[in-house]
Amino acid sequence: MPICKVCLKEMTTPSFLSFFSKENIMCPECQNKFRPVFRKVSKLDGNIYVLYHYDETIRSLLYQFKVADDYEIYSVFLGRFAPYLRLKFHDYILVPAPSVSIDNERRGYNHVEMMFSVLKLPLVRAVKKINSNKQTNRTKRERYQIKDDLALEDNINLAGKKVLLIDDVLTTGSTLNTMEQLIKTLKPAKIEKLVLSIVASHPL
Ligand SMILES: [Zn+2]
Repeated sequence: MPICKVCLKEMTTPSFLSFFSKENIMCPECQNKFRPVFRKVSKLDGNIYVLYHYDETIRSLLYQFKVADDYEIYSVFLGRFAPYLRLKFHDYILVPAPSVSIDNERRGYNHVEMMFSVLKLPLVRAVKKINSNKQTNRTKRERYQIKDDLALEDNINLAGKKVLLIDDVLTTGSTLNTMEQLIKTLKPAKIEKLVLSIVASHPL
């Protein structure tokens, strides 16, 4: 009997999705807690693809994944979107939003890279943080100034490539926007942006 990776209960009845996806590792009850919004939202200078509201379900799953170190649930986040996204962005290179490196060292993995790894796309860590202030410790005003804290890694070549910028939670949009400005200087063919969730205080 398969076990749901989110609630750890045995799945007595296979969910509808499991008939055509081996990636379905959630029971129907957990699956139904997700509220997909999949659409493009306008933020600052451009459009961003958003999969979910940042609601209690996403918040607690991200906590389980990032803070409680439940590595196994990485594949639930893109869930039902994975096959579609794999097709839509099949010729793209992923560039993840950088997280604070000290967290990565502690965990041994970057949570954004992990959750998007189900897309099986090449990934380039083209952007880095240049100081270690945590975004969550900042005031709202300071979060708008994050621009100064991101920089391109050395010797990155994305010229002529299609680039998909990825992140987990969209707040102001300034991180992705700054990443886009940085990546643009590398002359890629195209840049798209995709986030797992958007916070409710930013109306769609
Ligand atoms: Zn479950």
